[in-house]
Amino acid sequence: MSELDANKKLASAYLERFAANTTTHFINGQWTSAQGIESFDNLSPIDNASLGKIASGNAADVDLACLAAQAAFPAWRDTPGAERKKILNRFADLLVERSEEIALVESSDCGQAIRFMKQAAVRGAANFRFFAEKAPEASNGQSLFQPEHTNITLRTAIGPVAVITPWNTPFMLSTWKIAPALAAGCTIVHKPAEFSPLTAKILAEISKDAGIPDGVWNMVNGFGETVGKSLTEHPAIKAIAFVGETQTGVHIMNQGAASLKRLHLELGGKNPVLVFDDADFERALDAVVFMIYSLNGQRCTSSSRLLVQSGIRERFLEALKTRVSNLRVGHPLDPDTEVGPLIHSTHCEKVMSYMDSAKDEGATIAVGGARFTDDKVSPDGNYVQPTLFTGANNSMRIAQEEIFGPVLTEISFDTEEQALAIANDTPYGLTAYAWTSDQSRSMRLAHKIETGMLWINSENNRNLPSPFGGIKLSGIGRDGGDYSFEFYMETKNICMAHGTHRIPQLGK
Ligand code: NAD
Repeated sequence: MSELDANKKLASAYLERFAANTTTHFINGQWTSAQGIESFDNLSPIDNASLGKIASGNAADVDLACLAAQAAFPAWRDTPGAERKKILNRFADLLVERSEEIALVESSDCGQAIRFMKQAAVRGAANFRFFAEKAPEASNGQSLFQPEHTNITLRTAIGPVAVITPWNTPFMLSTWKIAPALAAGCTIVHKPAEFSPLTAKILAEISKDAGIPDGVWNMVNGFGETVGKSLTEHPAIKAIAFVGETQTGVHIMNQGAASLKRLHLELGGKNPVLVFDDADFERALDAVVFMIYSLNGQRCTSSSRLLVQSGIRERFLEALKTRVSNLRVGHPLDPDTEVGPLIHSTHCEKVMSYMDSAKDEGATIAVGGARFTDDKVSPDGNYVQPTLFTGANNSMRIAQEEIFGPVLTEISFDTEEQALAIANDTPYGLTAYAWTSDQSRSMRLAHKIETGMLWINSENNRNLPSPFGGIKLSGIGRDGGDYSFEFYMETKNICMAHGTHRIPQLGK
């Protein structure tokens, strides 16, 4: 049996229960009933067949989940950090135990190639272990001395938080948010994306098995306009950790304003990769291809704008065209597949609309530009050819808008100043990548480039203590290490007088 067939067989065994029973909500440690509720079909990107029914939650479901999170909060906040650490490490162990299932279900549900999903559970477990280690120290603040007063700061969990995640890499992004929230002592209500909700169920199951107390972890399925909206307006929720589109972030800011919610928004990007004449050619080429065509280009940190210097442009584009033409599109469970199907037919249409846009605006479609078909993939799946637009300028829609597919837009430049101006000429500011052997240039770019993150001579490399997040329309706030605790915790200052200072004496 081929590895693809073996994976398909295993995946269908894991997916069977999702097909057989509606995936409901997880509230106060219980799965809600599927009787008499509204639901919708969860469609597979592979062939648009239903993977099963998903409960479509409403305001009443959200209310129950938020009240459960509120009731469970004081006890979880006051659970000693060492105990939270133990539970979160147990959670990580269980993730690893179910890593095969997580990889196959995630791949089938969101169309990401199995080669990129294989390590998902292990990386998710690493997130949990990293924050578990920090739980015992999470409340520690600072001691700040003055001659006549001593200030000490304490940190305390902010309260129940909403975690709202997108469909592109739902499992990984959920662990990024939920691990620090729980380590800090917050309780959560998770709303997974309606297009890829399956691994959120597995996560909730593991929370129970790991001994996370009832009500600490709640999950409500459904649509953004209903479940998401109610959640972001609910008075019990103190903060919203959101990952998704910029426009949704704007809605969430408005929805949360009346109850003054704290917000962490990780939004879209149109990230540039700057390749200078003095770049390490082969490494730059590898990274450029990897950072837009891996994860089907459905990646917030994808380098979707290639800015290439005129001296190497011709050679670089020739090599790039060959590599893009060689990319292996296929079934996501095939270990050979590099690019899988896009999440949904509507998203596929959106991506395809940029092919027309590129033509209308006068760019060249150097590779791709059409739907992908062959006898190895279903004609009903959401497959798109890896695409390269060349000869673009930065005012074109293909250079300004987030396409979120395997589509790269190339723009040439002559000087460092031009490269910087083009890189910054975008409403987004999530990340940038620069390839150059000139260290002084790297430092000049580091100071002037308008992004939350810059990788120099590297593809995206995640270091858990380092801050992750964007500026401009790419978001507000940072994930990672202590930056996460800043978000999930309140800082309280206690000022103690030494009894020696003079108090103003009014009316004496
Ligand atoms: P989306 O904004 O459509 O949906 C994200 C989540 O928000 C979903 O769960 C959705 O149901 C919910 N939602 C929608 N409307 C809502 C509302 N009014 N109130 C509350 N919740 C609502 O995003 P998507 O299409 O699922 O994901 C793709 C986007 O996510 C891209 O723009 C991508 O760049 C971004 N993203 C950013 C990062 C980052 O770290 N910056 C990471 C991954 C994805």
